[in-house]
Amino acid sequence: MPELPEVETVRRGLEQQTRGRTIRRVEVLRPRAIANPETPQAFAEGLQGCELVGWQRRGKYLIGGLRRGSAPGGHWGVHLRMTGQFLLVPAAHEAALPPCRHTRVRLWTEEGDELRFIDMRSFGQMWWVPPEVAVERVISGLQRLGPEPFSDGFTGAYLHNRLQGSQRTIKAALLDQGLVAGVGNIYADESLFLAGIRPHTPCSALDLKQLQRLREALVDVLERSIGAGGTTFSDFRDLTGTNGNYGGEALVYRRTGQPCRVCGAPIERSRLGGRSSHWCPACQH
Ligand SMILES: [Zn+2]
Repeated sequence: MPELPEVETVRRGLEQQTRGRTIRRVEVLRPRAIANPETPQAFAEGLQGCELVGWQRRGKYLIGGLRRGSAPGGHWGVHLRMTGQFLLVPAAHEAALPPCRHTRVRLWTEEGDELRFIDMRSFGQMWWVPPEVAVERVISGLQRLGPEPFSDGFTGAYLHNRLQGSQRTIKAALLDQGLVAGVGNIYADESLFLAGIRPHTPCSALDLKQLQRLREALVDVLERSIGAGGTTFSDFRDLTGTNGNYGGEALVYRRTGQPCRVCGAPIERSRLGGRSSHWCPACQH
């Protein structure tokens, strides 16, 4: 599943490839991919004729700003969910790259280039938010998001304050998008390893110092992964179909039984709240 670094990689790709471009035509192949407005036609009409003025990311949501001539054109929201991905197909290559059966939405720019949304599992969603409507009103998932990991509000003290007295495990807490936005299984496991904390530790057992360390570890691992263009774990591809290469560097994630890169002990795996957790029994306490 794409996590924050993958979504950020896609955001940067969209920013680079689509900013300043005008959407000429939209074709929705799978109506269920459109969460708002109600009909694919209304979605297409909302976007067609609009210029993309830039892309933002909030948690795992991508939000494109739109302008219609000199007037605001609203926003285009995208959530990749499990397997959603964009592919930019230059006009010259379109004939050689017919849409695969998992293609959900196709958008053409005025230059004739195509931005294709492909989603094997079909959980990905798109929204068009009309101008003068708050984005969070239409994309309600945004209202529940906690602070961004890179924001000033995400500190060890914030974590300590939020997690004090909580009996749930730190792993479950990290996956809670209301605590911190954008973190999933991969970076939760990796940051807990770097911070030396076992995933099943109850939150209430962690002191401020440990949580400060965890916050630093999380920011560090996310930054490194963004630098590497996202992970390979989830068959992730950027706009040009290139796989990121953080996967080759994973410390514990999906390395069950393999030697810890620090101490050599075999990495263990346990089920926690329905998700697999990977950890080193020697380095994590
Ligand atoms: Zn170890």
